[in-house]
Amino acid sequence: MLSVLFTYFHPIDRAAIFTHIKTASEQVGIVGDKNVASVAERLKAELDSPGLVLSEPGEMAAYTTDWTHKFSGVTPAVLRPRDTAEVARSVLACRKLGLALVPQGGNTGLVGGSVPRAGEVVLSLSRLNAIESFDPASATVQVQAGVVLQALHEDLVARGCVFPVDLGARGSCQIGGMIATNAGGIKVLRYGHMREQVLGLEVVLADGTVLGSLNSLKKNNTGLDLKHTFIGSEGMLGIITRAVLQVRPAPQAVQTALLALDTRERLPELLTMLRERLRGLSSLEIITRESIALYQEVEPGTREPFDKAYPACVIVEEETGAGTSERDGFLERLSSVIESGLAADAVVAESDAQAQGIWRLRDGVTEAIGRAGLTHKFDVTVPPGALPEFLAEMERFGDEAGGLRTLLFGHLGDGNVHVNMMQKPELSEDEFYAKGPALAERIYSHVAALKGSISAEHGIGIAKRDYLHHSRTVEEINLMRGMKQLLDPGGILNPGVLFENA
Ligand SMILES: Cc1cc2nc3c(=O)[nH]c(=O)nc-3n(C[C@H](O)[C@H](O)[C@H](O)COP(=O)(O)OP(=O)(O)OC[C@H]3O[C@@H](n4cnc5c(N)ncnc54)[C@H](O)[C@@H]3O)c2cc1C
Repeated sequence: MLSVLFTYFHPIDRAAIFTHIKTASEQVGIVGDKNVASVAERLKAELDSPGLVLSEPGEMAAYTTDWTHKFSGVTPAVLRPRDTAEVARSVLACRKLGLALVPQGGNTGLVGGSVPRAGEVVLSLSRLNAIESFDPASATVQVQAGVVLQALHEDLVARGCVFPVDLGARGSCQIGGMIATNAGGIKVLRYGHMREQVLGLEVVLADGTVLGSLNSLKKNNTGLDLKHTFIGSEGMLGIITRAVLQVRPAPQAVQTALLALDTRERLPELLTMLRERLRGLSSLEIITRESIALYQEVEPGTREPFDKAYPACVIVEEETGAGTSERDGFLERLSSVIESGLAADAVVAESDAQAQGIWRLRDGVTEAIGRAGLTHKFDVTVPPGALPEFLAEMERFGDEAGGLRTLLFGHLGDGNVHVNMMQKPELSEDEFYAKGPALAERIYSHVAALKGSISAEHGIGIAKRDYLHHSRTVEEINLMRGMKQLLDPGGILNPGVLFENA
């Protein structure tokens, strides 16, 4: 039976998340203290512009460790250009001094590609943060690369539009970083990744050339579509400085519900039925029991959303027209799903605040995992038909790796599972991390056998480069290496990301 309830999920103090996370790891400083100082001085002399070069350790700390606190390195300087011309000057200065650089957006990437590994200079795009123009007739917006996703969302509200990519890091991640990683998120099912939103780009190349390709036309079949070279290239082919993005009309209403499942075995049927019946389906997120349990442990007092603990819950969001008849239609469609036996119960939000409460469960699980202990993270896609078997296999792999606690959640509609395997108290940090490579090899081989992908949305970075062959052929990898050689023969842009330097 459909119940219209509301459950309050307690907010988590984000600042506290880092308390238990491993600090600093695989850094290989190539510049000693003396050199660090002299490199910074030489950069300042080249770039003679106030505020452009940071070199005090205190000022640079936030740029050298990533969101997970697993990846950390040293840098002689952080460059903070204000516009494209300063980005180009910065690249030329690094090139002249023989320095490699790491482009950095909001530093929320999860594969170690946004921080220095071997003494590279960090080039932060944060000050390129202008929303430059909005064109209602073509439904496009032109932005600088450092615009934070949430700022773009908020700007578009007054214009009656939305930018349809959304993800948990919205308060920090930047448009340039999202393009560089081809970010996905919670609305890929309806609107696609960043790739589907980008019409044009401006990119600074490794030789300082500004490649202006700010196309705003939906139809422009004039040879190779160069923007695709840079979308998903993780900062190793060029530095994105501007983008033209498509925006969409804001939906008239968004209906949100939480479904309770008493089995995970019928997930593919559930997905098929929801796609068929909910024509405006925009999000479909799965959270398994163990993940909900961890959230409840980390946030004591968090109530169970239903009258009993189910093996999994699914957040469903549908964009509909306005009015009670549209809402009644949503309730009827959900009722029919429950009557079919594919879901056992549902909680439906009756207000925006209640919808946010439901989404809080999803965001809270990510934060609780970060807060509860050390975790091996694997972000993978498998064909949706393989999901029930895959989820069970991941729990078995976690058990067989010494009883690790396996926490599973993800974007159900895309077959994208975030697999998290958590440290047990009796394992030391080193013992826990030592399990990583064997686990990764086992999981990625299994994903490859299922014809899935070893990286659904986070990219390859440093963390997954040794496993790239599970998802790409030798010929593909060689072509990627060739493109790197063509665009960055000196190897100064984000070296070591995607594959080790040749
Ligand atoms: C809580 C949380 C939830 C998340 N949820 C999702 C999710 O649902 N879906 C998803 O796809 N990701 C998710 N992520 C991962 C992350 O937010 C995305 O990968 C995001 O796109 C990174 O953007 P950023 O600006 O932080 O980039 P950064 O982390 O700064 O950089 C990421 C990569 O892009 C490169 N780069 C950055 N800016 C530029 C530029 N201007 N030009 C060229 N290269 C550049 C960097 O060198 C690096 O290799 C999540 C992360 C967190 C912490």
